[in-house]
Amino acid sequence: MKQKVNTLKAVDCKESHSGLVYNFGAGPAMLPREVMQHARMEFLDWHGAGMSVMEMSHRGDDFMSIAAQTEANFREVLAIPENYKVLFLQGGASSQFAMVPLNLLAGKNTADYFHTGIWSGKALKEAGRFCKVNVIANENNSMLSVPEAETWSLDPDAAYVYYTDNETINGVQFPNIPDVEDVPLVTDMTSSLLSRPLDVSRFGVIFAGAQKNIGPSGMVVVIVREDLIGHAPKHIPSMYDYAIQDKNGSMYNTPPTYSWYMAGLVLKWVKEQGGLQAMERMSHARSDSLYQAIDESDFYNNPVAARYRSMMNVPFTLIDDSLNEKFASEAKDHGLVTLEGHRSVGGMRASMYNAMPEEGVDALITFMQEFERTNG
Ligand code: PMP
Repeated sequence: MKQKVNTLKAVDCKESHSGLVYNFGAGPAMLPREVMQHARMEFLDWHGAGMSVMEMSHRGDDFMSIAAQTEANFREVLAIPENYKVLFLQGGASSQFAMVPLNLLAGKNTADYFHTGIWSGKALKEAGRFCKVNVIANENNSMLSVPEAETWSLDPDAAYVYYTDNETINGVQFPNIPDVEDVPLVTDMTSSLLSRPLDVSRFGVIFAGAQKNIGPSGMVVVIVREDLIGHAPKHIPSMYDYAIQDKNGSMYNTPPTYSWYMAGLVLKWVKEQGGLQAMERMSHARSDSLYQAIDESDFYNNPVAARYRSMMNVPFTLIDDSLNEKFASEAKDHGLVTLEGHRSVGGMRASMYNAMPEEGVDALITFMQEFERTNG
């Protein structure tokens, strides 16, 4: 008997990525429209290769050129010095919670960790499986600010100092790079890399999961100073050894090829917009206007002290928690989606990465004011 096969139909996808909503989700997040359109154009046939990037061998010349271009774009946009390697790995940013201690302890048994929110909390818990963790936190541990330098008690024997530049869930961001002198500084910039210029030479390791400012999920980018590579103990898994990943050009196994390609397009877009200075200007414009709207209202509240407020993720509460559901649902009707706060903190959260247009934030503010007028 002939079996009925469900065939995929060729669809006219001219308008399928209509982008009619502003997505305020924390990640995976909005990608620049121009990038999505470009990827769609190249989707079935990349530069005459007769196939999609998704279908290519990672070892073929075509993909090798894509990979090299992405790295070159990264180096150019972030002005990454020669003595740093750029690795494109899997396992998400969370994999680095283990890879950092496994590769950087180098015979030492202690590391300093700033605890400023949920992600640094997860990182230091994981590090605790491998070494003694010296925690630097504010006395009340409120996760609403960053400890000021005069309160730090850094361990003189620490192999490295670790901090989460931007705490995506509680919306707390370091106002500047902590000064830790010669101890290697490690930072999780998952939700802030590419949002402003950065002096890479201040760091031992910078890592970022791709799914916010870099591209689709499935990849973590690790920028690591050369001299910190090659000190992992022999017994650790090969996939977790920076030296093995570096020696194999991040292709010890099959890499996340499509995410790698998309990151290259996003970086090209960043360059075309005017680079990281332009990203910073846009980011300030977005977050300044939203914080201002929140501060001018008695109906909405953001609990973070102004100096430590995140430029990327703005959590806020409504005067009455019972209105949360109505707020999110009516916002959705206005094309403003994924505004619900993280399950661990409740309330609302507006994540505004590089691809969020200013009009999206203006639309959110207008909606918030109207919601306050009718529910306040
Ligand atoms: N660190 C930060 C600051 C994050 O925001 C996230 C994800 N939201 C992670 C780490 C974990 O990333 P992943 O899911 O890629 O492991």
